[in-house]
Amino acid sequence: MKDLDIALVGAGIAGLTAAIALAKSGQSVSLYEAAPAWGDVGAGITLAPNAMRGLDYIGVGEAIAEIGIEPSTQQISHWQSGETLLMVDRSQTRKQYNSAYVYIHRADLHQVLVAEAEKAGVKIHLGKSVQSVNYQGLKPVLNFADNSRVEAELIIGADGLKSQVRQLFDSVAPHFTGHIAYRALAPITPEIQHLIDQPGMHIGPGKMIVRYPLRKGQLLNLVFFARQDGWTEDGWSIPAELQELRDLYAGWSDEVGTLIDSIRPGTVFKWAINAHSPLPQWSIENKVTLIGDAAHAMTPFLGQGAATGIEDAVILARILQAAETTENALSRYQAVRHERTTFIQKESNENADRLQGEAAELYGLGNLRNEETLGLFKYDCITESI
Ligand SMILES: Cc1cc2nc3c(=O)[nH]c(=O)nc-3n(C[C@H](O)[C@H](O)[C@H](O)COP(=O)(O)OP(=O)(O)OC[C@H]3O[C@@H](n4cnc5c(N)ncnc54)[C@H](O)[C@@H]3O)c2cc1C
Repeated sequence: MKDLDIALVGAGIAGLTAAIALAKSGQSVSLYEAAPAWGDVGAGITLAPNAMRGLDYIGVGEAIAEIGIEPSTQQISHWQSGETLLMVDRSQTRKQYNSAYVYIHRADLHQVLVAEAEKAGVKIHLGKSVQSVNYQGLKPVLNFADNSRVEAELIIGADGLKSQVRQLFDSVAPHFTGHIAYRALAPITPEIQHLIDQPGMHIGPGKMIVRYPLRKGQLLNLVFFARQDGWTEDGWSIPAELQELRDLYAGWSDEVGTLIDSIRPGTVFKWAINAHSPLPQWSIENKVTLIGDAAHAMTPFLGQGAATGIEDAVILARILQAAETTENALSRYQAVRHERTTFIQKESNENADRLQGEAAELYGLGNLRNEETLGLFKYDCITESI
């Protein structure tokens, strides 16, 4: 199919990737984003090789690898002793998977995607918040907060965790997963300079910390995870006190103390990690479907949320181009994607248990089960059979 009139909702990582892939394959794409302007929100993100394959497909992989950082090793340390439990070798990643493993600031990734979408002829509409989706005869319709409406031949919901489009499929709100996260971007100081070249994780009972460099080593991205009940708000900009981190990680190694000391007061944000249960059906009337977090929001413990959204986007664009009807395309899309994303949702929850177990000193001994050993990096959305 070509020249299909597609309305995409949400200009996050999945929505922009889909918009570019669809426009480049000859579809007519309008992208509706609730935010009134592009912002500099967020911190770091890891793009695993399976995500980078998708970004290669839409023509931005090399630009992103250039702005980002490719680690050669990743260290996993014991929470209390600081002892290295595992050193993961990433030096052969490009050769092994035909694609890079990249750390990047979300705002930098977003900027590259927006520029590419504009170049590809995507019609981008900011300040358009979808309130509901319904049908006008045989055509699906988006209803916006400003009382305007838009009809399309196909609607794709890429509107994230709190998706309005998903309401058509399932009105159950996302559930709290029992984890909260704190994020901070620490400017590099002599005390933490050595950690720039050595990204890693500190793991302990019920908690963990992820650290990696961004922006050519000028910033250290820090994410602190903790299991906690009683607070379930999510969002990118909820401020938190540094003292909360000091209390939560009291008794952790000196290096963790140094990390917390390197954060400037007023620059810590926290959010509760909410997710969805798998949806049985990914399309309605062959005219509305979902991608990314709207379809399968998951916990971040395999670093695969955005990666699976990128994969969805490329696979859906390839299938739509090859299919003769949207009916065939959407049933094929679900057949190709559903099992993998459901598997990753489940494994991501279990990986939190593995990383945050009571006996951190045993991590890495025996059968290691992580994103790489599970084979997730091998998935190639460019050549995957559709
Ligand atoms: C702590 C943490 C760390 C993570 N780390 C990683 C990682 O390292 N690697 C990885 O792959 N993933 C990671 N993830 C997951 C990743 O952030 C998400 O899976 C990804 O951002 C989802 O992309 P998306 O485009 O589907 O949704 P979103 O990024 O949420 O984008 C949705 C877009 O839709 C817009 N929107 C929402 N509602 C409406 C509406 N009604 N009308 C119009 N527009 C709307 C929003 O404004 C937004 O722009 C992490 C997540 C967390 C919480």
